[in-house]
This record gives sequence, structure tokens and C-alpha cells, in this order.
Amino acid sequence: MIEQLRLLIELQKLDTEILALHSKIDLMPDNLAASEAPLKKAEVSFENMKQGLAAQEKKKKDREHSIDEINDKINKLKQRSSEIKNNKEYQAHLKEIEKAEKDMKAAEGELLDAIEAIEKSSKQLAAEQARLAEERSKFDVVSKELDKAIALHKQDLKKLKNDRKKFTQKLEPDVYDKYIGIMKSRRGLAVVEAKNEICGGCNLHIPPQMFVELKHNNEIVLCPQCRRILYYCNSEAVSEESKGEGLKAKS
Ligand SMILES: [Zn+2]
Repeated sequence: MIEQLRLLIELQKLDTEILALHSKIDLMPDNLAASEAPLKKAEVSFENMKQGLAAQEKKKKDREHSIDEINDKINKLKQRSSEIKNNKEYQAHLKEIEKAEKDMKAAEGELLDAIEAIEKSSKQLAAEQARLAEERSKFDVVSKELDKAIALHKQDLKKLKNDRKKFTQKLEPDVYDKYIGIMKSRRGLAVVEAKNEICGGCNLHIPPQMFVELKHNNEIVLCPQCRRILYYCNSEAVSEESKGEGLKAKS
């Protein structure tokens, strides 16, 4: 296999890894937002409950205030009782007291209801607060893990990009330009294997004569349809080659 083609194959492998890492990193904010959803829900629920409790507490205060007012009214009415001489007036006066006492009973009933509701809501609010704290700590764990994963991915990316330089430096500029052009037009896949006479990029059946030439891997051949760079992989030959490369690198 010619050196330029071998470099292109290695470069494609690296770029595929680099692109995969980039899309992983790009997806992470979405993943984080998805993990945050239960926390947001718990926050809204807690806030609603808190407002509900505040409304009940206001109702309780209002009833207490009403009771005080009615009490005053009854006391005043009773104080006036001795001043009334006329029987008709007295009957009306008694009715007024009766009505005030009825109002008092109603207000007391409502006060009791409010106290009961507050007790129940306070318990629910405490439970919701515990759930909120739990969701928050769960989210913190996920968020920290995600930050760690992003840092690791970025570290890997840096390393891959360094490795990439080793290949690009050895590639002839026009070959590299061609590769980059195909990468851009073919969404990150420029070098593909031709296996069983089929283009690994677009599945075109490669003409037999072309495939015979391709098997030599001694020039850069483009797929007639998708214009990607094709290579033929003789698995044994490649592994021998990379073994040789490994030895060279060690010595
Ligand atoms: Zn093709």
C-alpha cells in the first residue's frame, strides 16, 4: 500500500474518533438538562405547596380577625341590652345577637378547618422539601459526573488532535486538501473500504476492472459515485504492515 493512502486511512480513523467525541460533548448540555427536569418539577411543586400554605395561613388570620370583630360586636350588643325599653326593639336586638353568634360559630368552624388544613399542608410541605433535597443531590451527582466526563473527553480530544498532526505533517498538501474537501462534502467520511466490490460510503457496486486496480492500493482511487477515497483491505497484509510499523517505532 502506498504511504499516502495508509496515512489517509489512519487519519480518517482519528477524525472519526474526534468527530464522535465532539458530538458526545455537544450532546452533554442536553443530557444535563434532561437530568435536571425532575429537580425543576420538584422545585415548582414545592413552591406551589408553599404558596398554598401561605394562603391557608392568611385565611386563618382573617378568621381570627373576624372572630375578634364578632366578639366585640356581641359584647357591645349585650352591653346595650339594658338600655332597650321597647319590646319590638328588644326582639330585633335579640335577633341581632343571635345572628352575630351564628356568624361566630361559622367563623370558628372555618378557623378550625384552616388550622387542620395548615397542619396537613405543613406535613406535605416537609415531605416535599425532603424530596426536593433528594432531587437536588441526585442532580448534583449527575452534574459532577458529566463535568468529569467532559473534562476527560476534552483531554482525549487534545491527545487525538496531537496524534492527528503526526499524520497530516506527512501527507502531501494536495492529498490533504482533497481529503478535507471530501470530509466537508461527505459529512466526515472521506476514506472508505471497498469490501466485496462495494463502496463502504455509498454502497455502489464498483466496476470489476476498477476493483482489480483498487486491490493494489498503489494509487488514490475515488468512488465514481460518492467521490470518496477507496481502499482495499487485505487484513493479513495490513496487520503485517502495522506490526512492522510498531517495530520501527520501538527501535
Ligand atoms: Zn461511493
